[in-house]
Amino acid sequence: MTHDFICPLCGAPFIRGEKTVRCSQGHSFDLARQGYINLLPAGRIAGRIHGDNREMIRARRDFLTAGYYKPLSEAINMVFREITPRGGCILDCGCGEGYYSEGLAEFLSTQNVDVLATDISKDAISYAARRHRIRCAVANSFHLPLADGTCDAILSLCTPIAAAEFARVLRPNGHLIAVFPAARHLWALKSMVYRDPYENTPTLNIDPYFILLRQDTVRFALHIADGKGIRNLFSMTPYAYHTTATEWTRLESIQQLDDEAAFILSVCRRREEA
Ligand SMILES: [Zn+2]
Repeated sequence: MTHDFICPLCGAPFIRGEKTVRCSQGHSFDLARQGYINLLPAGRIAGRIHGDNREMIRARRDFLTAGYYKPLSEAINMVFREITPRGGCILDCGCGEGYYSEGLAEFLSTQNVDVLATDISKDAISYAARRHRIRCAVANSFHLPLADGTCDAILSLCTPIAAAEFARVLRPNGHLIAVFPAARHLWALKSMVYRDPYENTPTLNIDPYFILLRQDTVRFALHIADGKGIRNLFSMTPYAYHTTATEWTRLESIQQLDDEAAFILSVCRRREEA
């Protein structure tokens, strides 16, 4: 890989050893057995700020590996093929367990594209690092361990957009692809669980760093005929955080789901000074 993370403390490049990575200033970080580095500042380990827990990540990994969201992965691959030059660099920021990053790396492997993946959850990254085509680090999206202008394109899928920081690590005219659920994503499932389901209201916080070029909607049917798969899907969504015991009971009783997944892919370009 020609593109790599840098020291989050001083910005110097790393030399990779057997069990650690070290910068020229002597800052050293552990290289985990799975092959990722943890670049979060030490001593700031506190609850939810560190992202999704292990159980949620395993549920997501099982659901995605079953291929239910393959149409979304393929749509993402097509957009990135348009905007990433040969030998370029993609960052999947908030990569989770790495399903989409690995899909991109595989799809663009003949183009010599490097895919770097970060997430604030160490558990997520420990799964992502088992995918061998990508390079992973535990890192904060708002303080990325990357030099200015490193990336040609960034994927931000269902995670907060760190617009200023994304603009910093993108090259001039680099692209941001932000993916959010559309208004009635998984409407059938929500209607089964909630008496009063609400529509998603995606907001795209990119000003003044990016220009929105276009928005593509990706829709596909979901047929899930096992209860575990349905609960895995539900636990991937933000609704899982706001669900009462009664609603969980309703969810537990669902054994079959016919629904529609719908996502909006916003293609944005870094705004350059006139
Ligand atoms: Zn350093």
